[in-house]
Amino acid sequence: MIPKHSIYLDYNATTPTHPEVVKAMLPFYKDEYGNASSIHTKGRAAHAALEDARSIIGNFLGTESVDIVFTSGGTESNNFAIKGVCFKNKEHGNHIITSSIEHMAVLEPCKFMQSQGFDLTCVNVDEYGLVDPLDIESAITDKTVLVSIMHANNEIGTIQPIEEIAAIIKKLNQKRIAENKPRIYFHTDAVQAFGKIPLDVETLGIDLLSVSAHKLYGPKGVGALYIRKGTEISPLLSGGHHERGLRAGTENIPAIVGFGKAVLLAKKNLNQNKNIEILRDKLYEGLNKKIKDIKLNGHPTKRLFNTLSVSFKGLDEESIVVNLDLKGIFASAGSACSSGSIEASHVLEAIGVSKEWIKGSIRFSIGSSTTDRDISYCLKEIPNIIEHLRSMSFK
Ligand code: PLP
Repeated sequence: MIPKHSIYLDYNATTPTHPEVVKAMLPFYKDEYGNASSIHTKGRAAHAALEDARSIIGNFLGTESVDIVFTSGGTESNNFAIKGVCFKNKEHGNHIITSSIEHMAVLEPCKFMQSQGFDLTCVNVDEYGLVDPLDIESAITDKTVLVSIMHANNEIGTIQPIEEIAAIIKKLNQKRIAENKPRIYFHTDAVQAFGKIPLDVETLGIDLLSVSAHKLYGPKGVGALYIRKGTEISPLLSGGHHERGLRAGTENIPAIVGFGKAVLLAKKNLNQNKNIEILRDKLYEGLNKKIKDIKLNGHPTKRLFNTLSVSFKGLDEESIVVNLDLKGIFASAGSACSSGSIEASHVLEAIGVSKEWIKGSIRFSIGSSTTDRDISYCLKEIPNIIEHLRSMSFK
């Protein structure tokens, strides 16, 4: 049976491509299909579009376009930052610091570098998912070449104190530079924050920053890595001289153009965020009023305005997701990026959510098309679903 409703509350997994983004992309499939490296008219048109998009993204991040390298998405950007900096600087040190609540697209490349002889320190977070900058400071050794801490968490939305961590690294780097020692690089995975909150690489004080288009109403399969000038980094892919020799492969011009358009729209729509936050809070307050044994995960205020992670005690997240789906509500169990896996979320484990709560954890992530009526519908249906599942589990 196809449900009457279709309420998408999984915007942290991916967003619908904005119609204006699709419109901007189409000419680059139909007429302007040139290779940006070709010197004829069609190639030059593609190249101009590529550089336009690069400057839109650079501008949004408060930097020059030359600092932006296009990639195939957040996963590649993170791999490039982590492996690229570690391989290039391996003569200087073999120690990486990250946090226990990073996305797999950071944790796995870090683990890979362990297999290449690097030591890895995973700093813990508090009950809200916050990293303590002083823990980073204590973890840094003479061998540290890279610190990678995410900007906003994809599951619980907690926003990390990136500027404070950057200030600590800057202070240590000043000392290192004075002693003629190599510096520590600071990378942030900003895939969930980019387009939702203003990000300025100078204010943040970071050296490398990963972004992805499909989290901000752009197309899938395209992203970028900001690389501060002077950063010592090796390319992941070898081949042609695309992207200043940093990322070989013919650029995906339609997707990159769509990415640029999505960033322009995100900039224009930043003021819609308050409405989304109001809807998110209405959802939580309503659920909290109607359902017993429910718990909010993540920081109450230092959190992405669209993200609501809740645990329903004693339940199983897969049954909740399936029952929500039957009512036309599309949400995610733990992290959608690791869907298919029935392991408990490493993020919820890291913030200390206990066994009886962790299994019943759902992430609702709200976006530009969510309406007040959608939330009212959810508040009518979700309590019934939870009550029904609880009555079944006690039989
Ligand atoms: N980093 C974070 C925090 C994410 O949420 C995701 C995707 O969900 C990624 C990285 C991976 O990005 P992509 O899907 O563009 O490879």
